[in-house]
Amino acid sequence: MQKMNVNYLRISVTDRCNLRCTYCNPLGACDFIAHEEILTFEEIQRLVKLFAECGIQKVRLTGGEPLVRKGIAELVRRLADISGIEEVTLTTNGVLLAAMATELKAAGATRVNVSVDSMNRETYQRITGSDALADSLSGIRKAIEVGLTPVRINSVIVKGLNDSVEEITALARMSVDLPVTVRFIEYCPTDTKTLAASSYVPNSEICRMVESKFGSLSPVASGYRDGPAVYFKMRDSAGMIGFISGRSSMFCQTCNRLRLTSDGKVKPCLYAAPAYELKGLLRSGAGDEELLALLRTIVDQKARYTKVNSSVEIFEKFSMQSIGG
Ligand code: SAM
Repeated sequence: MQKMNVNYLRISVTDRCNLRCTYCNPLGACDFIAHEEILTFEEIQRLVKLFAECGIQKVRLTGGEPLVRKGIAELVRRLADISGIEEVTLTTNGVLLAAMATELKAAGATRVNVSVDSMNRETYQRITGSDALADSLSGIRKAIEVGLTPVRINSVIVKGLNDSVEEITALARMSVDLPVTVRFIEYCPTDTKTLAASSYVPNSEICRMVESKFGSLSPVASGYRDGPAVYFKMRDSAGMIGFISGRSSMFCQTCNRLRLTSDGKVKPCLYAAPAYELKGLLRSGAGDEELLALLRTIVDQKARYTKVNSSVEIFEKFSMQSIGG
């Protein structure tokens, strides 16, 4: 089996969020992690320095909502300064982005992904629990203006919520009008407090809807740090369309990412596989050599990992908001 080049670390910096998306973090469903269990900036910085020695080049800050973590720009600055880290990016719902984009860019963030599941104000509110579509869209415009680019829009499509042709084409149209990539992400069932597995809509259906409205999509080659997303262009569009098909396809061969949870566990696979506990080691005074030895093992095992060769149940129950998507 070919070994994957594991060069991408996603870090959930908080499990708290300013939205309550029905499929991720619905109102009343959260048992938040105690503050003292969340990794400090110093701990994250130390781990990223060591991960960089193991080949990590790209870091993405996520959550919860990363922009609600106090001092997030300072964390960006610390991580962007680490030798070997070439990109520090964020995944955000964009609601606070207009006010913070300039500071994030100055701190060394390279670009942002913004989650927008509907261009319809009422649908957006139904999904997120907030009348905040306009704020998120102004966050996107500001990100483009300050150069946190290319901006990617992440849209999770859920049956009965935002799976109509009107909803899908309105999202896709953003990539015609703006230099953004609109990525459709298949809904992944997580725990019993969110939505049923049957809420999932395969990306093949979404692609058909997009093509029926805009004509056939032409494939675009992916970059070496793009991971499992596949990209297409519509005729005369400013941006691109992408698909991340975690349910309907097996993309382990292109999955280059590790995930660090806000409370210090590393997950090699979103859908399964064990989590490695790092916080205990960090806080019990482990030296860099001891930590590095564990990180090297994690990276090496990830490089060989596939759902097929894992003995762990696929689609175990977990909370997306603590892992960061
Ligand atoms: N608050 C930030 C945001 O909204 O982008 C970052 C955290 S959020 C957990 C990261 C991504 O995970 C979002 O694009 C979100 O739509 C996606 N996500 C959350 N739950 C999901 C699920 N069950 N299946 C697929 N994607 C999910």
